[in-house]
Amino acid sequence: MKSVIVTGASRGIGAAIAKTLAKVGYAVVINYNKSAESAVSLCREIRESGGIALNIQGDVSLTSDVQRIFSVSYEQLGTPYALINNAGIALRGAPIQDITDSEIESVFAANLTGAIKCSREAVKYMIPRHCGKIVNISSVWGQIGGSCEVVYSASKAGIIGLTKALSNEVAPSGINVNCIAPGVITTDMISCYSKDDLNVLCDETPLGRLGTPEDIANAVEFLISDKAAFITGQILGINGGMAV
Ligand code: NAP
Repeated sequence: MKSVIVTGASRGIGAAIAKTLAKVGYAVVINYNKSAESAVSLCREIRESGGIALNIQGDVSLTSDVQRIFSVSYEQLGTPYALINNAGIALRGAPIQDITDSEIESVFAANLTGAIKCSREAVKYMIPRHCGKIVNISSVWGQIGGSCEVVYSASKAGIIGLTKALSNEVAPSGINVNCIAPGVITTDMISCYSKDDLNVLCDETPLGRLGTPEDIANAVEFLISDKAAFITGQILGINGGMAV
């Protein structure tokens, strides 16, 4: 059975990715950082439906945690077939002059350094097998830039750079690296928005609704499947037409 490591899978988009992939037969690693309870309950839910799931706690920004996530996964489920770099945090919306050093550092650590460190570890396992898939979760703000979201947007633009450079580097090793740039998706991450803000965002979305975590999970399922074997280095916007 092919195993997939999903970072930040305790909640939101990552949890939907883990559920969707388990349903179609992948063994999934549910990485989480702080939300142990929801990670354990997701793991139980997948196992009760006949799937294979494993919880591994770890902060993706810490090298020792990343190495442990991959080594425990390897011991229990074998060489990872795919890595989904989904873990991330957002900041309160604020003008750049109000952002603190520690906010800048924590957003880059979770959103960009984490994805780089996980990718670095993943390819060590994938290259000898000449096979592997990496899907990075960016954001529409990484593509077009969000006012009062400078640090988050920059970290997510970095994910796009990571995708393009790494896809060039590891294509000769049989590894596909792609990126999904979601629009506004209904998870805890957007709980800071008021109802009015959400209505405005909905109005700005030509398809007339916000996205669901499953909208993203379905695309991840496609990108790691054989049907996407000739796709690499691409940025797939899933945003209801918000940015085209
Ligand atoms: P969420 O509901 O807030 O979930 C974030 C997940 O990331 C949680 O499982 C959290 O784990 C994990 N995480 C955060 N920091 C981590 C770290 N250092 N190490 C390991 N795990 C960590 O957010 P979401 O909306 O599902 O977002 C998932 C991804 O999609 C993020 O990269 C986000 O930037 C991106 N995205 C979201 C939207 C949106 O509108 N929701 C739009 C575009 C892009 P714990 O709770 O266990 O700490």
